[in-house]
Amino acid sequence: MNILAVGAHPDDIELNCAGTLAKYAAQGHNVFICTATNGNIGSATLPKEEIGRIRKEEAAKSAAIIGAEYICLDYDDELFYEDVNVRIDFINMVRHCRPHIILTHNPHDYNPDHMLTSKIINDIQVMLPIAKIETKEKPWEIMPAVYYFEPAKGMGFIPTDYVDISDHFETKRKMLLCHQSQVQWMADNYAGFSAEDTFIEDMKITAAYRGMQCGVKYAEAFIRCNDAYRMTAARLLP
Ligand SMILES: [Zn+2]
Repeated sequence: MNILAVGAHPDDIELNCAGTLAKYAAQGHNVFICTATNGNIGSATLPKEEIGRIRKEEAAKSAAIIGAEYICLDYDDELFYEDVNVRIDFINMVRHCRPHIILTHNPHDYNPDHMLTSKIINDIQVMLPIAKIETKEKPWEIMPAVYYFEPAKGMGFIPTDYVDISDHFETKRKMLLCHQSQVQWMADNYAGFSAEDTFIEDMKITAAYRGMQCGVKYAEAFIRCNDAYRMTAARLLP
């Protein structure tokens, strides 16, 4: 299968579903990672253009660890709004990846970029196969199964599905650590936090908590969003 994870910012994917992507990749599936924005406000000291470039490099390096293709739609961090061009960009990107499964943000989240990314992914499902909606990439006839990953710290999130990532936790950690600029960002913005510890520790606590809920060491949790593939009665998560 082709698996597509769509996040708003570089590092969202690593925090919330990189273990699952690593597992898919290890099983031989093709993995694509897309971020809507380039994360260009993620530094207290560097100019926007420079931090945007750095964050794209970090995301590409992380994706390469599992052999995934990284795509950045290059919108501005926290200034991301939907218009017709954004919608066409998203449709084109999804058609390029030709996914059977999409992992994306939960519609209820603290961050507007996260919520908009989730909304657009939901909105365009029915548009993917329609030839009259023209994009550079040709229409994709399959309506992908969509799963939502959890918001930061799992606030208000009641999962329907879990993925045991115990064997892929170290890969997830390595992928997250590619985002070194954000370790600095945490230190600059959240006084009193030990940046690297907090960044990695948050992820580890969440993975351990979700693991505890489903009886494994580390897990990632999802909400199943549509029924498109459930007619097969097969589990699509790894
Ligand atoms: Zn984010």
